[in-house]
Amino acid sequence: MDIWSSNLGYPRMGAKRELKKALEGYWQRKVSQEELENTALMLQRQNWQTQKEAGIDFIPVGDFSLYDHMLDMAVMLGLIPARFRKDGLKADLDTYFTMARGAKDIPPLEMTKWFDTNYHYLVPELDTKPSLLVNWALEKSKLAKELGINPKPVLVGPYTFLKLSKEAGVSRKEILSDLLSVYKEILNQLAKEGIEWVQMDEPALVLDMEEEEIKQVEDIYKQLSTLGLNIVLQTYFGGVSFYERVVSLPVQAIGLDFVRTEENLENLKKFGFPQDKILGIGLVNGRNVWRTDIKKAFNLAKEIIETAKPKGVFIQPSCSLLHLPVTVSLETQLPEEIRNILAFAQERLAEVALLTKALKEDQLSPDAFTHEVEVHALPEVKERVKKLKEEDFRRVDPYEVRVQRQQAVLNLPLFPTTTIGSFPQTKDVRQMRAKFRRGEISEAEYEQFIREKMAFCIGVQEGLGLDVLVHGEFERSDMVEYFAQKMTGFIVTKHGWVQSYGSRCVRPPIIYADVSRPAPMTVKEITYAQSLTKKPVKGMLTGPVTILNWSFVREDIPRSEVAYQIALALRDEVLDLEKAGIKIIQIDEPAVREGLPLKKKDRPAYLDWAVKAFRLTHAKVKAETQIHTHMCYAEFQDIIEAIDAMDADVISIECSRSQGDIISSFEEYHYKKGIGLGVYDIHSPRVPSVEEMLAILRRCLKVLSPKQLWVNPDCGLKTRQWEEVIPSLQNMVTAAKKLREEIGSRT
Ligand code: GLN
Ligand code: ZN
Repeated sequence: MDIWSSNLGYPRMGAKRELKKALEGYWQRKVSQEELENTALMLQRQNWQTQKEAGIDFIPVGDFSLYDHMLDMAVMLGLIPARFRKDGLKADLDTYFTMARGAKDIPPLEMTKWFDTNYHYLVPELDTKPSLLVNWALEKSKLAKELGINPKPVLVGPYTFLKLSKEAGVSRKEILSDLLSVYKEILNQLAKEGIEWVQMDEPALVLDMEEEEIKQVEDIYKQLSTLGLNIVLQTYFGGVSFYERVVSLPVQAIGLDFVRTEENLENLKKFGFPQDKILGIGLVNGRNVWRTDIKKAFNLAKEIIETAKPKGVFIQPSCSLLHLPVTVSLETQLPEEIRNILAFAQERLAEVALLTKALKEDQLSPDAFTHEVEVHALPEVKERVKKLKEEDFRRVDPYEVRVQRQQAVLNLPLFPTTTIGSFPQTKDVRQMRAKFRRGEISEAEYEQFIREKMAFCIGVQEGLGLDVLVHGEFERSDMVEYFAQKMTGFIVTKHGWVQSYGSRCVRPPIIYADVSRPAPMTVKEITYAQSLTKKPVKGMLTGPVTILNWSFVREDIPRSEVAYQIALALRDEVLDLEKAGIKIIQIDEPAVREGLPLKKKDRPAYLDWAVKAFRLTHAKVKAETQIHTHMCYAEFQDIIEAIDAMDADVISIECSRSQGDIISSFEEYHYKKGIGLGVYDIHSPRVPSVEEMLAILRRCLKVLSPKQLWVNPDCGLKTRQWEEVIPSLQNMVTAAKKLREEIGSRT
């Protein structure tokens, strides 16, 4: 039996985010097309070289993208929606980036989360007949060959591509056969070039599937199986649905994820594996940063091989390494004992190579690393979690009682106006933070600067006549990182960037030990802001589930336990804020939805602890203290009950991108508590008019009662400019006032 090492995809940005810089420079017309293309080429070559030097036999090509791989696939297939092909069907950079980012009067493709990751893909729209526009897989394979790399082109498989696309006049069914013709053409050209293996990514096979869908998959691969090149059908992010039928598809190799869940292993044991096929064993984790326990992985691989008895195996990561930072070696500021337990993309390659070698030799060299993470445990934190009782998760008074007491304290008008938290993070804010970090200004100077910003922000909000104010979040670089830096159990990296979408990267903190809060985290800023005004200022916290979902999390205890640890730290903060006289506290949970497991059967368990973690943060406040939460970028319809169960007194939701859907979901679900559906799309520099916002509010009032409706933007105003924010909020306040006049008298 043959054993090879293989990889599925590699980070695109470069170790120092070279691609980000080139892209943003190009968009600002400071970098030429040629320079951008050179950077892209340089990065791809580097990635190939790194993989080759690490000892990877099958190196992915075409996994790289200037923006997003779904967009690339759509362009290759000629699926350029009408609004982008006004001067013909073209695959030039202008068209490409307009699809990604929009242009004046041309909205971009919709963007949404790639499965349960924090990577966002662009949603292809089906509105035309596909045709081969450009074969980037072929072009890149040729380039790789010139460098002595044996390329394995990567394509998004037709099933996943269609599943994630949006019907825009043409249905998936209608398009299928034409689409397959184009795929065949792409594959034929690759075969002619002498390509031996193609990786077809079909992660959609791990979602819940219907009989009709698996039939479609069978049909697709029957058609693609006769083209004279080998296909590895690659799945990841969990166990495949219809295991027996997936592994029987007429392809030469099947790649399965053995890291994420036990499902594939269980099915393998139950149903076996076809002996004429190669099995891709996803053995090292592409979604988390802990070094692999090599001994355990070695034994698992042996067990898999002995059970499957495949024709050969690829030893590989569980999914593309796109979701990891590039290399631990740049994190020189971290203590060595921590660096030693981490593995990013480059370190994963070494693990794959090591395991491949060990499996070939059928022995593990004695110096092979075995995982022994020494985490500093905090017994008192563990004890606190263990001692949690029912009442720790439940506010004493029901909402009906709370709302009256809160109103007695707050005395808010009908349709209270507020914002989501952040105000423009202008250049001066970023510059001062950088200066402070570099030690060029003292802590006192930095704090003074932040205070001035807060004072300005409070002044602006008072001037605008908003009802519930915020401090503006000027002291925060990022809503998760800020808290991670203030709690124990987290480390933050310097270069641990992961692509979120396009040129945007995030740097997730790493939770490696028990979480606690050594000192108050936000009380100083919030109480200062509150001291400047008689209006209520909201305390502003990031919720436990969001902190968890936007971090790399330890795996030695269940996620729920980590969530409770964070929640307890936040509960202390909430109670400190309350003690300091803060009457409204907002606990943001924008990432609740994205932690939702891919398969329906796993969802109730997640929602159960996620809701409990949130409730834990606020259950102990007085009835008078009003708890807000905020959520964005998600389909709420399927978790609306869980949102209700979080039991916040007021929720604000992003709504401008899918207004109709969200509003109408309240037709079916009777939501009683306070709610603000964003009336101002903060993703756009546009200033929305009073009438526009009134129209949204009136629609909301068709399904919600006037007493519960709040008026607020979609999300934080961090990325906007003051010049846009002030007139927009002015219009928003005017809209609320008009509505009060219109409706107030009737209630
Ligand atoms: N309070 C945060 C802000 O306004 C919320 C951000 C978010 O929802 N992502 O920036
Ligand atoms: Zn938001």
